[in-house]
Amino acid sequence: MPLEDRICPKCHLRAVEDEYHFMLTCPLYIDIWERLLKNTINKKPAIKQLDQKEQLVWLLNSQNREVILAVADYVYKTTRMILVSNSKMVYIYAIL
Ligand SMILES: [Zn+2]
Repeated sequence: MPLEDRICPKCHLRAVEDEYHFMLTCPLYIDIWERLLKNTINKKPAIKQLDQKEQLVWLLNSQNREVILAVADYVYKTTRMILVSNSKMVYIYAIL
């Protein structure tokens, strides 16, 4: 699907539903974001200094167990994505 056709169907912003929108800016998930990811970011003073796109990279690349669990909990609680795993990888799929 072309990028420009990936408009978020869950909010009014008419934004492309990429990882940045899903994880940090979609207003539909703000309550979940406030409970899970904001707390995680606030516990890491150095991360608070980054801009939002840098925070997204940090969230998705962290090897810290607490951060990984917070991201997985966020994805699960939005009910927008499903996680499918085998013994080697975890795949994330959008629910259309
Ligand atoms: Zn949205």
